[in-house]
Amino acid sequence: MEWPWSRKDPELAAAAVQKSTLIDGVDHLVAALPDPILILDRSGIVIKANANAEEMLEMTPVGLHLSQAIRAPAVLEAVTRAISQGSSANVDYEVRGPIPRNFEVYVSPILPAQSDSPAVLLVLKDLTREQQIERMRSDFVANASHELRTPLASLSGLIETLQGAARNDEEAREKFLDLMRSQAERMKRLIDDLLSLSRIEMNVHLRPSAKVDLAQVARHVCDLLSSMAQEEKVTLQINLDAKFEVAGEWDELVQVVVNLVENAIKYSEPGKTVNIEGSREDGFVTLSVIDEGRGIAEEHIPRLTERFYRISVQESRSRGGTGLGLAIVKHILNRHRGRLLVTSQLGHGSRFTIRLPAI
Ligand code: ADP
Repeated sequence: MEWPWSRKDPELAAAAVQKSTLIDGVDHLVAALPDPILILDRSGIVIKANANAEEMLEMTPVGLHLSQAIRAPAVLEAVTRAISQGSSANVDYEVRGPIPRNFEVYVSPILPAQSDSPAVLLVLKDLTREQQIERMRSDFVANASHELRTPLASLSGLIETLQGAARNDEEAREKFLDLMRSQAERMKRLIDDLLSLSRIEMNVHLRPSAKVDLAQVARHVCDLLSSMAQEEKVTLQINLDAKFEVAGEWDELVQVVVNLVENAIKYSEPGKTVNIEGSREDGFVTLSVIDEGRGIAEEHIPRLTERFYRISVQESRSRGGTGLGLAIVKHILNRHRGRLLVTSQLGHGSRFTIRLPAI
Protein backbone atom coordinates (compact mmCIF):
# COMPACT_ATOMS: atom_id res chain seq x y z
CA MET A 1 0.00 0.00 0.00
CA GLU A 2 1.36 3.45 -0.97
CA TRP A 3 0.95 6.29 1.47
CA PRO A 4 1.91 9.80 0.32
CA TRP A 5 3.90 10.64 3.44
CA SER A 6 6.59 9.13 5.53
CA ARG A 7 5.50 7.46 8.70
CA LYS A 8 8.57 8.80 10.41
CA ASP A 9 7.94 12.44 9.48
CA PRO A 10 6.25 14.04 12.50
CA GLU A 11 5.89 17.43 10.76
CA LEU A 12 3.84 16.00 7.95
CA ALA A 13 1.75 14.08 10.45
CA ALA A 14 1.13 17.24 12.52
CA ALA A 15 0.19 19.14 9.36
CA ALA A 16 -2.35 16.48 8.47
CA VAL A 17 -3.90 16.71 11.94
CA GLN A 18 -4.00 20.54 11.57
CA LYS A 19 -5.75 20.23 8.22
CA SER A 20 -8.58 18.42 9.93
CA THR A 21 -10.32 21.66 11.06
CA LEU A 22 -13.13 20.65 8.72
CA ILE A 23 -14.42 18.20 11.26
CA ASP A 24 -13.69 20.08 14.47
CA GLY A 25 -17.42 20.58 14.86
CA VAL A 26 -17.96 16.87 15.27
CA ASP A 27 -15.45 16.48 18.12
CA HIS A 28 -18.15 16.36 20.76
CA LEU A 29 -20.15 13.90 18.73
CA VAL A 30 -17.17 11.57 18.31
CA ALA A 31 -16.35 11.84 22.02
CA ALA A 32 -19.91 10.97 23.00
CA LEU A 33 -20.20 7.82 20.86
CA PRO A 34 -20.03 4.55 22.84
CA ASP A 35 -17.81 2.65 20.40
CA PRO A 36 -14.14 3.35 19.72
CA ILE A 37 -14.01 5.79 16.78
CA LEU A 38 -11.08 6.84 14.57
CA ILE A 39 -11.14 9.41 11.79
CA LEU A 40 -8.36 9.37 9.20
CA ASP A 41 -7.31 11.80 6.53
CA ARG A 42 -6.70 10.71 2.94
CA SER A 43 -3.14 9.72 3.70
CA GLY A 44 -4.17 7.37 6.47
CA ILE A 45 -3.14 9.55 9.43
CA VAL A 46 -5.41 9.38 12.45
CA ILE A 47 -6.79 12.89 12.92
CA LYS A 48 -9.43 12.14 15.55
CA ALA A 49 -9.81 9.39 18.14
CA ASN A 50 -12.26 9.29 21.00
CA ALA A 51 -11.35 8.19 24.52
CA ASN A 52 -12.82 4.72 23.91
CA ALA A 53 -10.47 4.24 20.95
CA GLU A 54 -7.46 5.35 23.01
CA GLU A 55 -8.42 2.96 25.77
CA MET A 56 -8.94 0.07 23.38
CA LEU A 57 -5.68 0.66 21.51
CA GLU A 58 -3.82 1.48 24.75
CA MET A 59 -2.20 4.46 23.02
CA THR A 60 -2.91 7.94 21.69
CA PRO A 61 -3.12 7.33 17.94
CA VAL A 62 -3.74 10.92 16.77
CA GLY A 63 -0.91 12.01 14.49
CA LEU A 64 0.16 8.45 13.72
CA HIS A 65 -0.46 6.43 10.63
CA LEU A 66 -3.26 3.91 11.13
CA SER A 67 -0.86 1.01 10.54
CA GLN A 68 0.99 2.01 13.74
CA ALA A 69 -2.19 1.71 15.76
CA ILE A 70 -3.90 -1.25 14.09
CA ARG A 71 -1.64 -3.92 12.66
CA ALA A 72 -4.11 -5.68 10.45
CA PRO A 73 -3.64 -5.79 6.66
CA ALA A 74 -7.37 -6.37 6.09
CA VAL A 75 -8.26 -3.13 7.92
CA LEU A 76 -5.59 -1.14 6.04
CA GLU A 77 -6.81 -2.54 2.72
CA ALA A 78 -10.38 -1.56 3.56
CA VAL A 79 -9.14 1.97 4.32
CA THR A 80 -7.37 2.14 0.94
CA ARG A 81 -10.55 1.02 -0.80
CA ALA A 82 -12.60 3.57 1.12
CA ILE A 83 -10.26 6.31 -0.08
CA SER A 84 -9.75 5.16 -3.67
CA GLN A 85 -13.19 3.70 -4.45
CA GLY A 86 -15.41 5.34 -1.84
CA SER A 87 -16.60 1.93 -0.64
CA SER A 88 -17.39 0.92 2.93
CA ALA A 89 -16.72 -2.46 4.53
CA ASN A 90 -16.89 -4.50 7.74
CA VAL A 91 -13.61 -6.18 8.61
CA ASP A 92 -12.71 -8.59 11.42
CA TYR A 93 -9.80 -7.54 13.59
CA GLU A 94 -8.28 -9.78 16.24
CA VAL A 95 -6.01 -8.39 18.93
CA ARG A 96 -3.70 -11.17 20.06
CA GLY A 97 -2.14 -11.19 23.50
CA PRO A 98 -2.63 -12.72 26.92
CA ILE A 99 -6.33 -11.81 26.68
CA PRO A 100 -7.30 -11.98 22.98
CA ARG A 101 -10.03 -9.61 21.84
CA ASN A 102 -12.13 -9.62 18.69
CA PHE A 103 -13.42 -6.56 16.92
CA GLU A 104 -15.50 -5.83 13.90
CA VAL A 105 -14.21 -2.68 12.22
CA TYR A 106 -16.63 -0.67 10.13
CA VAL A 107 -14.65 1.34 7.57
CA SER A 108 -16.46 4.03 5.65
CA PRO A 109 -15.51 7.03 3.48
CA ILE A 110 -16.78 10.25 5.06
CA LEU A 111 -16.70 12.58 2.06
CA PRO A 112 -16.66 11.79 -1.67
CA ALA A 113 -13.38 10.12 -2.51
CA GLN A 114 -12.12 13.06 -4.62
CA SER A 115 -12.48 15.71 -1.92
CA ASP A 116 -9.89 16.78 0.62
CA SER A 117 -9.54 15.37 4.15
CA PRO A 118 -11.12 14.03 6.28
CA ALA A 119 -11.51 10.80 4.41
CA VAL A 120 -12.30 7.73 6.46
CA LEU A 121 -14.33 6.80 9.52
CA LEU A 122 -13.48 3.68 11.52
CA VAL A 123 -15.91 2.34 14.10
CA LEU A 124 -14.58 -0.54 16.18
CA LYS A 125 -17.13 -2.85 17.71
CA ASP A 126 -15.83 -5.09 20.51
CA LEU A 127 -17.28 -8.55 19.86
CA THR A 128 -15.26 -10.31 22.58
CA ARG A 129 -18.08 -10.40 25.13
CA GLU A 130 -20.72 -11.28 22.53
CA GLN A 131 -18.59 -14.16 21.24
CA GLN A 132 -17.95 -15.35 24.79
CA ILE A 133 -21.69 -15.37 25.48
CA GLU A 134 -22.31 -17.19 22.20
CA ARG A 135 -19.71 -19.82 23.16
CA MET A 136 -21.24 -20.19 26.62
CA ARG A 137 -24.68 -20.58 25.09
CA SER A 138 -23.57 -23.31 22.71
CA ASP A 139 -21.61 -25.07 25.50
CA PHE A 140 -24.76 -24.90 27.60
CA VAL A 141 -26.92 -26.45 24.88
CA ALA A 142 -24.31 -29.19 24.34
CA ASN A 143 -24.10 -29.88 28.11
CA ALA A 144 -27.87 -29.91 28.59
CA SER A 145 -28.36 -32.27 25.63
CA HIS A 146 -25.64 -34.56 26.92
CA GLU A 147 -27.16 -34.60 30.43
CA LEU A 148 -30.56 -35.50 28.99
CA ARG A 149 -29.21 -38.08 26.58
CA THR A 150 -27.59 -40.19 29.30
CA PRO A 151 -30.79 -41.13 31.18
CA LEU A 152 -32.66 -41.36 27.88
CA ALA A 153 -30.14 -43.89 26.55
CA SER A 154 -30.45 -45.98 29.68
CA LEU A 155 -34.28 -45.80 29.46
CA SER A 156 -34.13 -47.07 25.85
CA GLY A 157 -31.81 -49.89 26.91
CA LEU A 158 -34.14 -50.91 29.74
CA ILE A 159 -37.18 -50.88 27.46
CA GLU A 160 -35.35 -53.09 24.97
CA THR A 161 -34.43 -55.55 27.74
CA LEU A 162 -38.01 -55.61 29.00
CA GLN A 163 -39.28 -56.35 25.51
CA GLY A 164 -36.65 -59.03 24.96
CA ALA A 165 -34.72 -61.09 27.50
CA ALA A 166 -36.72 -60.03 30.56
CA ARG A 167 -40.14 -60.29 28.89
CA ASN A 168 -41.36 -63.13 31.10
CA ASP A 169 -39.18 -62.55 34.15
CA GLU A 170 -41.42 -61.04 36.82
CA GLU A 171 -38.59 -60.23 39.24
CA ALA A 172 -36.35 -58.61 36.63
CA ARG A 173 -39.31 -56.60 35.33
CA GLU A 174 -39.89 -55.01 38.77
CA LYS A 175 -36.20 -54.16 39.06
CA PHE A 176 -36.06 -52.62 35.60
CA LEU A 177 -39.22 -50.62 36.15
CA ASP A 178 -37.66 -49.18 39.31
CA LEU A 179 -34.53 -48.23 37.37
CA MET A 180 -36.69 -46.69 34.65
CA ARG A 181 -38.56 -44.61 37.22
CA SER A 182 -35.32 -43.25 38.67
CA GLN A 183 -34.00 -42.34 35.20
CA ALA A 184 -37.29 -40.64 34.33
CA GLU A 185 -37.14 -38.73 37.64
CA ARG A 186 -33.62 -37.62 36.82
CA MET A 187 -34.77 -36.26 33.47
CA LYS A 188 -37.66 -34.50 35.16
CA ARG A 189 -35.35 -32.86 37.73
CA LEU A 190 -33.06 -31.70 34.97
CA ILE A 191 -35.91 -30.25 32.91
CA ASP A 192 -37.40 -28.56 36.00
CA ASP A 193 -34.02 -26.97 36.76
CA LEU A 194 -33.54 -25.85 33.15
CA LEU A 195 -37.01 -24.30 33.14
CA SER A 196 -36.31 -22.57 36.49
CA LEU A 197 -33.12 -21.10 35.08
CA SER A 198 -34.76 -19.77 31.96
CA ARG A 199 -37.70 -18.32 33.93
CA ILE A 200 -35.34 -16.54 36.32
CA GLU A 201 -33.25 -15.26 33.42
CA MET A 202 -36.33 -13.86 31.73
CA ASN A 203 -37.26 -11.91 34.87
CA VAL A 204 -33.76 -10.83 35.77
CA HIS A 205 -34.48 -7.13 35.15
CA LEU A 206 -37.66 -7.06 37.23
CA ARG A 207 -36.61 -6.35 40.76
CA PRO A 208 -38.87 -8.16 43.25
CA SER A 209 -40.60 -5.88 45.75
CA ALA A 210 -42.63 -8.03 48.18
CA LYS A 211 -41.52 -8.11 51.82
CA VAL A 212 -40.05 -11.51 52.69
CA ASP A 213 -38.71 -12.63 56.06
CA LEU A 214 -35.69 -14.90 55.50
CA ALA A 215 -36.17 -16.45 58.95
CA GLN A 216 -39.61 -17.59 57.87
CA VAL A 217 -38.15 -18.87 54.57
CA ALA A 218 -35.56 -20.88 56.51
CA ARG A 219 -38.19 -22.41 58.82
CA HIS A 220 -40.36 -23.33 55.81
CA VAL A 221 -37.36 -24.96 54.07
CA CYS A 222 -36.54 -26.99 57.19
CA ASP A 223 -40.10 -28.31 57.17
CA LEU A 224 -39.83 -29.18 53.47
CA LEU A 225 -36.52 -30.99 53.91
CA SER A 226 -37.02 -32.60 57.32
CA SER A 227 -37.75 -36.05 55.85
CA MET A 228 -34.71 -35.88 53.56
CA ALA A 229 -32.56 -34.90 56.57
CA GLN A 230 -33.99 -37.80 58.56
CA GLU A 231 -33.28 -40.26 55.76
CA GLU A 232 -29.69 -39.04 55.54
CA LYS A 233 -29.40 -38.96 59.38
CA VAL A 234 -28.42 -35.29 59.33
CA THR A 235 -29.71 -32.86 61.99
CA LEU A 236 -31.14 -29.53 60.82
CA GLN A 237 -30.78 -26.64 63.26
CA ILE A 238 -32.05 -23.07 62.91
CA ASN A 239 -30.58 -20.23 64.96
CA LEU A 240 -32.72 -17.31 63.87
CA ASP A 241 -34.41 -15.41 66.65
CA ALA A 242 -35.41 -12.25 64.80
CA LYS A 243 -36.97 -11.20 61.54
CA PHE A 244 -34.62 -10.82 58.58
CA GLU A 245 -36.68 -8.89 56.09
CA VAL A 246 -35.70 -8.26 52.48
CA ALA A 247 -37.47 -7.17 49.29
CA GLY A 248 -37.91 -10.39 47.40
CA GLU A 249 -40.02 -13.10 45.88
CA TRP A 250 -40.98 -15.79 48.37
CA ASP A 251 -40.87 -18.76 45.97
CA GLU A 252 -37.46 -17.83 44.59
CA LEU A 253 -35.92 -17.24 48.01
CA VAL A 254 -37.34 -20.59 49.17
CA GLN A 255 -35.67 -22.18 46.14
CA VAL A 256 -32.32 -20.55 47.06
CA VAL A 257 -32.44 -21.87 50.62
CA VAL A 258 -33.74 -25.30 49.51
CA ASN A 259 -30.82 -25.67 47.10
CA LEU A 260 -28.28 -24.69 49.76
CA VAL A 261 -29.75 -26.85 52.52
CA GLU A 262 -30.23 -29.81 50.16
CA ASN A 263 -26.55 -29.59 49.19
CA ALA A 264 -25.50 -29.27 52.83
CA ILE A 265 -27.42 -32.48 53.61
CA LYS A 266 -26.29 -34.28 50.43
CA TYR A 267 -22.61 -33.58 50.95
CA SER A 268 -22.58 -34.40 54.72
CA GLU A 269 -22.00 -37.75 56.37
CA PRO A 270 -24.69 -39.30 58.61
CA GLY A 271 -24.57 -37.97 62.18
CA LYS A 272 -23.56 -34.44 61.16
CA THR A 273 -25.46 -31.20 61.73
CA VAL A 274 -26.48 -28.46 59.30
CA ASN A 275 -26.91 -25.05 60.92
CA ILE A 276 -28.81 -22.09 59.54
CA GLU A 277 -27.82 -18.71 60.96
CA GLY A 278 -28.70 -15.12 60.20
CA SER A 279 -27.13 -11.75 60.83
CA ARG A 280 -27.59 -8.10 59.98
CA GLU A 281 -24.76 -5.77 59.05
CA ASP A 282 -24.42 -2.38 57.31
CA GLY A 283 -27.83 -2.43 55.67
CA PHE A 284 -27.54 -6.06 54.60
CA VAL A 285 -29.16 -9.24 55.82
CA THR A 286 -27.20 -12.48 55.61
CA LEU A 287 -28.34 -16.06 55.94
CA SER A 288 -25.72 -18.80 56.25
CA VAL A 289 -26.10 -22.53 55.72
CA ILE A 290 -23.23 -24.22 57.54
CA ASP A 291 -22.40 -27.89 57.20
CA GLU A 292 -19.85 -30.23 58.72
CA GLY A 293 -19.36 -32.13 55.47
CA ARG A 294 -16.24 -32.85 53.51
CA GLY A 295 -15.59 -29.25 52.50
CA ILE A 296 -14.58 -27.90 49.11
CA ALA A 297 -11.02 -27.38 47.84
CA GLU A 298 -10.25 -23.72 47.18
CA GLU A 299 -9.76 -24.07 43.42
CA HIS A 300 -13.37 -25.25 42.95
CA ILE A 301 -15.03 -22.43 44.88
CA PRO A 302 -15.04 -19.73 42.14
CA ARG A 303 -16.56 -22.20 39.65
CA LEU A 304 -19.35 -23.70 41.79
CA THR A 305 -22.07 -21.44 40.33
CA GLU A 306 -21.24 -22.33 36.71
CA ARG A 307 -23.94 -24.40 35.06
CA PHE A 308 -23.21 -28.12 35.27
CA TYR A 309 -20.02 -27.58 37.27
CA ARG A 310 -19.61 -30.43 39.76
CA ILE A 311 -16.58 -31.47 41.78
CA SER A 312 -17.49 -35.10 41.16
CA VAL A 313 -20.04 -35.72 38.42
CA GLN A 314 -20.48 -39.31 39.54
CA GLU A 315 -21.22 -38.39 43.14
CA SER A 316 -23.54 -35.55 42.21
CA ARG A 317 -25.53 -37.87 39.91
CA SER A 318 -25.73 -40.63 42.46
CA ARG A 319 -27.24 -38.12 44.88
CA GLY A 320 -29.77 -36.86 42.37
CA GLY A 321 -27.85 -33.67 41.53
CA THR A 322 -28.14 -31.85 38.23
CA GLY A 323 -25.19 -29.47 38.59
CA LEU A 324 -27.60 -26.55 38.19
CA GLY A 325 -28.55 -25.87 41.84
CA LEU A 326 -25.95 -23.22 42.58
CA ALA A 327 -26.34 -21.62 39.12
CA ILE A 328 -30.01 -21.15 39.99
CA VAL A 329 -29.01 -19.69 43.39
CA LYS A 330 -26.69 -17.19 41.70
CA HIS A 331 -29.29 -16.09 39.16
CA ILE A 332 -31.98 -15.60 41.78
CA LEU A 333 -29.60 -13.61 43.96
CA ASN A 334 -28.58 -11.44 40.98
CA ARG A 335 -32.23 -10.59 40.45
CA HIS A 336 -32.51 -9.69 44.14
CA ARG A 337 -29.30 -7.59 44.01
CA GLY A 338 -27.80 -10.12 46.40
CA ARG A 339 -24.61 -12.17 46.55
CA LEU A 340 -23.47 -15.67 47.41
CA LEU A 341 -20.32 -16.04 49.52
CA VAL A 342 -18.70 -19.44 49.98
CA THR A 343 -16.04 -20.33 52.50
CA SER A 344 -14.92 -23.86 53.13
CA GLN A 345 -12.28 -25.91 54.82
CA LEU A 346 -11.46 -29.26 53.32
CA GLY A 347 -12.42 -32.01 55.73
CA HIS A 348 -14.28 -29.64 58.09
CA GLY A 349 -17.27 -28.30 56.21
CA SER A 350 -18.58 -25.37 54.22
CA ARG A 351 -20.48 -22.15 54.79
CA PHE A 352 -22.75 -20.83 52.04
CA THR A 353 -23.92 -17.30 52.86
CA ILE A 354 -26.49 -15.28 50.97
CA ARG A 355 -26.33 -11.52 51.43
CA LEU A 356 -29.25 -9.30 50.48
CA PRO A 357 -30.04 -5.60 50.98
CA ALA A 358 -32.19 -5.22 54.12
CA ILE A 359 -35.43 -3.24 54.09
P1 ADP B 1 -25.48 -30.53 42.26
O1 ADP B 1 -26.82 -30.77 41.67
O2 ADP B 1 -24.40 -31.37 41.63
O3 ADP B 1 -25.47 -30.60 43.76
P2 ADP B 1 -24.97 -27.68 42.57
O4 ADP B 1 -24.92 -26.62 41.52
O5 ADP B 1 -25.97 -27.54 43.64
O6 ADP B 1 -25.12 -29.05 41.78
O7 ADP B 1 -23.53 -27.79 43.22
C1 ADP B 1 -22.39 -27.88 42.39
C2 ADP B 1 -21.31 -28.72 43.04
O8 ADP B 1 -20.80 -28.03 44.18
C3 ADP B 1 -21.77 -30.05 43.56
O9 ADP B 1 -21.76 -31.04 42.56
C4 ADP B 1 -20.75 -30.35 44.66
O10 ADP B 1 -19.60 -30.91 44.06
C5 ADP B 1 -20.40 -28.97 45.18
N1 ADP B 1 -21.11 -28.60 46.43
C6 ADP B 1 -22.22 -27.84 46.55
N2 ADP B 1 -22.57 -27.68 47.83
C7 ADP B 1 -21.66 -28.36 48.57
C8 ADP B 1 -21.47 -28.58 49.98
N3 ADP B 1 -22.30 -28.06 50.89
N4 ADP B 1 -20.40 -29.32 50.36
C9 ADP B 1 -19.53 -29.84 49.44
N5 ADP B 1 -19.67 -29.67 48.10
C10 ADP B 1 -20.71 -28.95 47.67
